[in-house]
Amino acid sequence: MALPENRKLVAGNWKMNGTLAFLDTVAEMRVGAAGGLAEADLLVCPPATLVSAVATALDGSAIAVGGQDCHAETSGAFTGDIAAEMLADCGATHVIVGHSERRQYHAEDDATVAAKLRAAHRAGLVAIACVGETKDEREAGNALAVVRAQVEALLDDTITGANTCIAYEPVWAIGTGLTPTVDDVAQMHTSIRETIAARIGTDEAARLRLLYGGSVKPSNARELMAAADVDGALVGGASLNAADFLAIARAC
Ligand code: PEP
Repeated sequence: MALPENRKLVAGNWKMNGTLAFLDTVAEMRVGAAGGLAEADLLVCPPATLVSAVATALDGSAIAVGGQDCHAETSGAFTGDIAAEMLADCGATHVIVGHSERRQYHAEDDATVAAKLRAAHRAGLVAIACVGETKDEREAGNALAVVRAQVEALLDDTITGANTCIAYEPVWAIGTGLTPTVDDVAQMHTSIRETIAARIGTDEAARLRLLYGGSVKPSNARELMAAADVDGALVGGASLNAADFLAIARAC
């Protein structure tokens, strides 16, 4: 399903977790989100092997389905890779690009991430582009500048509030249980919004959803989601549990 703008979005990134047995958890999510949640839109991003089955299991529900990565090309000799068009063909409406684990383990640079973002748009998918600083970059006082450069590398005149979300995910907060302070999150999100506005205009930038990601749990979601310029969450570990995932969405 296509998600409306200007509501919070809670997206689950299952990473390399889940087999067909996980459809039981998907069924729990479907029941828990029946009729849609008042607080947020929901999206799950299973591994590519499950996109089709999860999209079928969630058909007609309030939960959309996305991929975790896509190739920049439409087709060709790219063994093991998946085109954005293939994800769309399986029922995906969104795709994550530039997750820090892709940047780190697959050497994806800003230019590669930008090409994947455009591929997502070409296929009619909403791109969720991830940015974020490392621990060393934050400790050196460079977090804002690093993230600004990552965001600028993604921007062109085709970016809209409808076709793109940006997920701010400090690398040191992913899977560690650590989170930035609420003030740090707000400062970063405001800076990201200003960077986007400088390129596509204030009104369009206001429509583009900025997600926070990094150790979001039911216990900290309310505080993080209330921070200025936070329009939702990208959730890793806690999105593998239906009750936790729905509790995060209800905390928005
Ligand atoms: C992620 O991988 O996008 C993520 C935010 O992970 P976690 O919630 O487990 O920190």
